[in-house]
Amino acid sequence: MFSPLAPRWMGRLLFPGMPIMIASSDSHAVETVFDGVDPHALAQAVGTPCYVYSAATIRHRIASLATALRSRPATLCYAVKANPSFAVLQLMAAEGVGADIVSEGEMWRALRAGIPAGRIVFSGVGKQDREILAALDAGISRFNVESADELASLQRLASERGRVAHAAVRVNPDVDALTHAKISTGKSENKFGVSIDEARRWFAGSGSLSHVRLDGLHVHIGSQIVDVAPFRLAIGRVGDLWRELVAAGHAIRSIDVGGGLGVRYRASDRAVDMAGYVSAIREALTGFDGALLLEPGRYLVAEAGVLLTRVLRVKQGDERQFLVLDAAMNDLARPSLYDAWHDIVPLHETPRSMQVYDVVGPVCETGDTFAREREMEACRPGDLVAILGAGAYGASMASTYNSRPLAAEVMVENGRYAVVRRRQTFDEMIAGEQPANDWQIA
Ligand SMILES: *Cc1c(COP(=O)(O)O)cnc(C)c1O
Repeated sequence: MFSPLAPRWMGRLLFPGMPIMIASSDSHAVETVFDGVDPHALAQAVGTPCYVYSAATIRHRIASLATALRSRPATLCYAVKANPSFAVLQLMAAEGVGADIVSEGEMWRALRAGIPAGRIVFSGVGKQDREILAALDAGISRFNVESADELASLQRLASERGRVAHAAVRVNPDVDALTHAKISTGKSENKFGVSIDEARRWFAGSGSLSHVRLDGLHVHIGSQIVDVAPFRLAIGRVGDLWRELVAAGHAIRSIDVGGGLGVRYRASDRAVDMAGYVSAIREALTGFDGALLLEPGRYLVAEAGVLLTRVLRVKQGDERQFLVLDAAMNDLARPSLYDAWHDIVPLHETPRSMQVYDVVGPVCETGDTFAREREMEACRPGDLVAILGAGAYGASMASTYNSRPLAAEVMVENGRYAVVRRRQTFDEMIAGEQPANDWQIA
């Protein structure tokens, strides 16, 4: 199972793409992401902490979604916020995947990466006038409209520009997504979308919209959803609304069923039932032959990424043993923000006995904890550790809290790696800051 050190490294050099053995029960997930790149050599070259993304895994996720949908072709609009790395977006563009954006900045990134405007949809409850104008000028395919106020703004701005905008109503179906409260978006108490009643009224009044073609429905009930039932319920309600609107004489050209597909954050997690998800869509939308859109984010990238980090110290407390990593909550916020679980795998070359650790970062907050009482192989200072499932909402939510520069990001494929974001320098970290000596009156 474990090959000795020297032949292994030599093998890597001679045969790029050869799997690197890791002495751990989660070795398969780790090896899949590193895709033949030696994590030790990578950490030496790029430093830690460092995000590692597997191009092959992302492509595989795109393909598996496309395969599941083969009986009902759909347009994938990748939710950029999950991981807006330029390299990731370029990969999406090359695979023909579009983008779901929630800001002008995301549109800018998507366009620069080569995603055509015609495959971009714009969601979000707080679109600013200048963002709407920029999106109209770019000619994006559709606005997912979340309030009556926004619909009025879109009508006004589109008529100012002499353009006709395609719009979908984001319906809030009042469905519990059975996920973490902070990433649930489809209950009536959430800020997202409008009720089905309100959506009905929008369509009834849509004749007065000269520069908005209200011809789409949109729903997105939350993230990290592993049960098909909430999807079935939500998309079912949208399907009922679609039938009702068609019967009332409205043309519905697109139905966007959002994102939210859950992923496995621990080896024991069950994967979302993709066949069940697709059949829920098919059943709810039987007879709909317009454009079907999906907005997966996490599903495409989460399991394709790890956060590679080094052990700084092993600290024996009175009650607990702490493993202090060089990665922290500023690099990966999910554990502190959502109490999220991430599998943490030491990348030892030979197996070691098990230990129980609280796995923490160096940031001055108790919340800077990746795991509590986690059983894993014993570690020593200098050891490498991979935090799995970090490809989505990892680097994209990172900050420089505690004045820790943003981590490097690399993409790997078949035994090779490319730095896709170099580690931020201190100068870059303070770019734009200046002493308070340019005082103005306001
Ligand atoms: C965040 C978001 C998504 C993607 O969610 P995932 O859980 O990452 O798939 C899709 N659509 C909208 C409108 C979003 O806000």
